[in-house]
Amino acid sequence: MDIVSKDNSEYLIIRKNNKYEVVIGLEVHAQVLSESKLFSSSSTKFGAEPNTQVSLVDSAFPGMLPVINEFCIKQAIKTGIGLNAKINKKSIFDRKNYFYPDLPQGYQISQYKNPIVGEGSVFLDLPSGEKKVGIERLHLEQDAGKSIHDVDPQNTLVDLNRSGVALMEIVSKPDLRSLEEVNAYIKKIRSIMRYLETCDGNMQEGSLRADVNVSVRKKGEKKLGTRCEIKNVNSIKFMQMAIDYEANRQVDVLEEGGKIDQETRLFDTKKNETRSMRSKEDAHDYRYFPDPDLLPLELTDDFINNLKNNIPELPDEKKKRFIEKFKLSAYEANILVSDIETSKYFEEVIKNSDVKISTNWITGELFALLNEKNLEITESPISAKHLSKLINLIKDGTISGKIAKSVFEIMAEGDKDPQKIIEEKGLKQESDPKELEKIVDKVVNENQDKVKEYKSGKEKLFGFFVGQIMKVSGGKANPQLVNKILKEKLK
Ligand code: ADP
Ligand code: MG
Repeated sequence: MDIVSKDNSEYLIIRKNNKYEVVIGLEVHAQVLSESKLFSSSSTKFGAEPNTQVSLVDSAFPGMLPVINEFCIKQAIKTGIGLNAKINKKSIFDRKNYFYPDLPQGYQISQYKNPIVGEGSVFLDLPSGEKKVGIERLHLEQDAGKSIHDVDPQNTLVDLNRSGVALMEIVSKPDLRSLEEVNAYIKKIRSIMRYLETCDGNMQEGSLRADVNVSVRKKGEKKLGTRCEIKNVNSIKFMQMAIDYEANRQVDVLEEGGKIDQETRLFDTKKNETRSMRSKEDAHDYRYFPDPDLLPLELTDDFINNLKNNIPELPDEKKKRFIEKFKLSAYEANILVSDIETSKYFEEVIKNSDVKISTNWITGELFALLNEKNLEITESPISAKHLSKLINLIKDGTISGKIAKSVFEIMAEGDKDPQKIIEEKGLKQESDPKELEKIVDKVVNENQDKVKEYKSGKEKLFGFFVGQIMKVSGGKANPQLVNKILKEKLK
């Protein structure tokens, strides 16, 4: 069996048989960013002691009644708008019945035939260009509790803190065709929700997980193959590994003359393989029916429009604006808008600084620094204000780009003001023509043999002189001026 390459060089499905293509559809479960749960006022805060955020509703005491949380409804609608989707003015909460130890109600309140959000689409920015991916629906549902198997050697423990937390299930059309597209899709959905502040997108804390549906078919074939669904995968890397394994498995089965059974599978992150959990359940297995404790949810146009009118600028629009207004390349714009915090930092820096230099410094030096220290941009050791100052010092010729790099390194140690660093260390660029002329003369005089060679046609030596001058000046000579003066002297 082929496996994903060890160095995680992303995006490869190494398949023995490239007659096949893989088809992927994702059901993303995104935790609604909300202080309280979908039908109760318990806190949703992450990391609390087990069973300390559980109301009688969340623990399903008989006779308790769910009360819808209006804020969660708004969050779902906003997300729907961000996904360019149809908002359904009438939606219905259903009971999805199944037994699980961490599901005390014996059913999950979800939305089945009438979700709050209908069809929509998102655009992926891929190296090959833009790709539109269809959204089938977005519905609201409750999360279950958590079974804990590794604390007590004899018993399974249950933590109900998560029970009743609002989730948005975002179901894509089977439009994804590669690991790269899956990666771009998850990042795009996450980015949109973070812009909207409807989900924090924190995959480590489980705020974003996905069921991954995978099928394969011969290239050129119209009909979709039978899919397998891999449950509850909680990182992009695992999604990619699971898809890679699963697609290869299916191709092998088909090539050996077998057929794919529609089933629910589990991804074993230790063994890096998917395993059958159960044959795929059908909707009728769940005995869905409208929850008699909850009325259909009906929205007025005013309610929806009010939310529409207050949607912030989203990544696609921001990208367009960055390209048009700041003349960035699509590539640069993409990098700067994909994370809302990065875009904020960028806009803060360019408020008072040259856009081109700022873009280069942010996507170059700053990203490298953050990467090296494994920091988010919100934790950047260099504030936008100070970076902006540094860029102005480059722009007005106070320091050269090269000196700026050393100043940047010192700034990274604790957000120091670049102006102060330059003063303290005497790094100011030498731009006085008289002073520079002295240095040029000195270097020229000391290298008369090279001057002769230069004059007899060895023009490459110009670089040698510049190098010497920079050395004598301690790297502080203004390069443009040096070039000019040197040319004169060597005429
Ligand atoms: P269920 O709850 O039964 O899994 P959903 O409609 O919620 O059904 O989700 C089905 C998911 O499977 C969607 O994301 C859809 O795009 C995807 N899907 C459907 N058919 C295929 C297929 N043949 N190959 C891959 N993905 C598929
Ligand atoms: Mg499913």
